[in-house]
Amino acid sequence: MDQKDLEYFRLLLLARREALMDAPPPVEPLRDAPTDKVDEDLQPLAEMNQMIASNRNKARLGSIRLIEEAIERIDEEPDEYGLCLSCEEPIMRRRLELMPWVTLCVDCQSRQEQAQANRAAGGRRHITDYED
Ligand SMILES: [Zn+2]
Repeated sequence: MDQKDLEYFRLLLLARREALMDAPPPVEPLRDAPTDKVDEDLQPLAEMNQMIASNRNKARLGSIRLIEEAIERIDEEPDEYGLCLSCEEPIMRRRLELMPWVTLCVDCQSRQEQAQANRAAGGRRHITDYED
Protein backbone atom coordinates (compact mmCIF):
# COMPACT_ATOMS: atom_id res chain seq x y z
CA MET A 1 0.00 0.00 0.00
CA ASP A 2 1.55 3.33 -0.97
CA GLN A 3 1.71 6.55 0.99
CA LYS A 4 -1.32 8.00 -0.79
CA ASP A 5 -3.48 5.03 0.13
CA LEU A 6 -2.35 5.13 3.73
CA GLU A 7 -3.21 8.79 3.93
CA TYR A 8 -6.60 8.06 2.39
CA PHE A 9 -7.44 5.37 4.92
CA ARG A 10 -6.13 7.52 7.74
CA LEU A 11 -8.58 10.25 6.69
CA LEU A 12 -11.42 7.73 6.52
CA LEU A 13 -10.59 6.60 10.04
CA LEU A 14 -10.40 10.14 11.39
CA ALA A 15 -13.74 11.06 9.80
CA ARG A 16 -15.32 7.92 11.22
CA ARG A 17 -13.97 8.64 14.69
CA GLU A 18 -15.29 12.16 14.52
CA ALA A 19 -18.73 10.90 13.53
CA LEU A 20 -18.76 8.50 16.48
CA MET A 21 -17.60 11.13 18.95
CA ASP A 22 -20.37 13.43 17.80
CA ALA A 23 -23.04 10.79 18.23
CA PRO A 24 -25.73 11.87 20.69
CA PRO A 25 -25.44 10.49 24.23
CA PRO A 26 -27.63 7.48 25.04
CA VAL A 27 -31.27 8.18 25.93
CA GLU A 28 -32.09 8.80 29.56
CA PRO A 29 -33.91 5.98 31.31
CA LEU A 30 -37.67 6.54 31.49
CA ARG A 31 -37.82 6.88 35.26
CA ASP A 32 -35.64 9.99 35.19
CA ALA A 33 -38.09 11.88 33.02
CA PRO A 34 -39.53 14.58 35.30
CA THR A 35 -43.15 14.31 34.14
CA ASP A 36 -43.22 10.54 34.28
CA LYS A 37 -44.88 8.72 37.13
CA VAL A 38 -43.40 5.35 36.45
CA ASP A 39 -45.94 2.64 36.47
CA GLU A 40 -44.83 -0.73 37.83
CA ASP A 41 -45.72 -2.21 34.46
CA LEU A 42 -43.37 0.16 32.68
CA GLN A 43 -40.40 -0.63 34.85
CA PRO A 44 -39.16 -3.60 32.78
CA LEU A 45 -39.45 -1.45 29.68
CA ALA A 46 -37.41 1.31 31.27
CA GLU A 47 -34.76 -1.17 32.25
CA MET A 48 -34.68 -2.61 28.77
CA ASN A 49 -34.28 0.83 27.22
CA GLN A 50 -31.44 1.54 29.58
CA MET A 51 -29.73 -1.72 28.73
CA ILE A 52 -30.03 -1.07 25.01
CA ALA A 53 -28.60 2.41 25.44
CA SER A 54 -25.71 1.14 27.50
CA ASN A 55 -24.91 -1.63 25.01
CA ARG A 56 -25.00 0.87 22.20
CA ASN A 57 -22.65 3.12 24.10
CA LYS A 58 -20.29 0.23 24.71
CA ALA A 59 -20.29 -0.64 21.02
CA ARG A 60 -19.53 2.98 20.21
CA LEU A 61 -16.56 3.10 22.59
CA GLY A 62 -15.35 -0.22 21.19
CA SER A 63 -15.44 1.17 17.65
CA ILE A 64 -13.55 4.28 18.66
CA ARG A 65 -10.86 2.13 20.22
CA LEU A 66 -10.55 0.00 17.06
CA ILE A 67 -10.30 3.13 14.96
CA GLU A 68 -7.57 4.56 17.14
CA GLU A 69 -5.63 1.32 16.97
CA ALA A 70 -5.87 1.37 13.18
CA ILE A 71 -4.58 4.96 13.06
CA GLU A 72 -1.67 3.92 15.28
CA ARG A 73 -0.92 1.02 12.96
CA ILE A 74 -0.81 3.38 9.99
CA ASP A 75 1.55 5.69 11.86
CA GLU A 76 3.83 3.10 13.39
CA GLU A 77 3.70 0.09 11.11
CA PRO A 78 2.50 1.36 7.74
CA ASP A 79 3.75 -1.81 6.03
CA GLU A 80 1.43 -3.89 8.15
CA TYR A 81 -1.68 -1.83 7.56
CA GLY A 82 -4.15 -3.52 5.22
CA LEU A 83 -2.64 -6.97 5.77
CA CYS A 84 -4.57 -9.65 7.60
CA LEU A 85 -3.09 -10.21 11.06
CA SER A 86 -3.77 -13.89 10.80
CA CYS A 87 -2.79 -15.02 7.29
CA GLU A 88 -0.84 -11.88 6.23
CA GLU A 89 -2.67 -11.65 2.94
CA PRO A 90 -3.81 -8.19 1.81
CA ILE A 91 -7.35 -7.39 2.93
CA MET A 92 -9.71 -6.56 0.05
CA ARG A 93 -9.69 -2.85 -0.68
CA ARG A 94 -13.47 -2.69 -0.78
CA ARG A 95 -13.58 -4.16 2.73
CA LEU A 96 -11.04 -1.65 4.00
CA GLU A 97 -12.98 1.22 2.50
CA LEU A 98 -16.10 0.10 4.36
CA MET A 99 -14.32 -0.76 7.60
CA PRO A 100 -10.81 0.72 7.58
CA TRP A 101 -10.20 -0.60 11.10
CA VAL A 102 -10.49 -4.30 10.26
CA THR A 103 -7.44 -6.42 11.01
CA LEU A 104 -8.59 -9.69 9.48
CA CYS A 105 -9.50 -10.72 5.95
CA VAL A 106 -12.99 -12.05 5.29
CA ASP A 107 -11.86 -15.67 5.51
CA CYS A 108 -10.02 -15.30 8.79
CA GLN A 109 -12.76 -13.20 10.32
CA SER A 110 -15.49 -15.69 9.48
CA ARG A 111 -13.30 -18.50 10.80
CA GLN A 112 -12.84 -16.54 14.02
CA GLU A 113 -16.54 -15.77 14.31
CA GLN A 114 -17.36 -19.40 13.71
CA ALA A 115 -14.98 -20.40 16.49
CA GLN A 116 -16.52 -17.84 18.84
CA ALA A 117 -20.02 -19.00 17.95
CA ASN A 118 -19.00 -22.56 18.70
CA ARG A 119 -17.52 -21.53 22.04
CA ALA A 120 -20.69 -19.64 22.92
CA ALA A 121 -22.43 -23.00 22.57
CA GLY A 122 -26.00 -22.07 21.84
CA GLY A 123 -25.74 -18.53 23.21
CA ARG A 124 -27.19 -15.92 20.90
CA ARG A 125 -24.66 -13.66 19.29
CA HIS A 126 -24.96 -10.59 17.14
CA ILE A 127 -22.25 -9.83 14.70
CA THR A 128 -21.80 -6.10 14.61
CA ASP A 129 -18.84 -5.07 12.54
CA TYR A 130 -19.86 -1.50 12.72
CA GLU A 131 -22.97 0.50 13.34
CA ASP A 132 -24.45 3.56 11.82
ZN1 LIG B 1 -6.61 -13.72 6.71
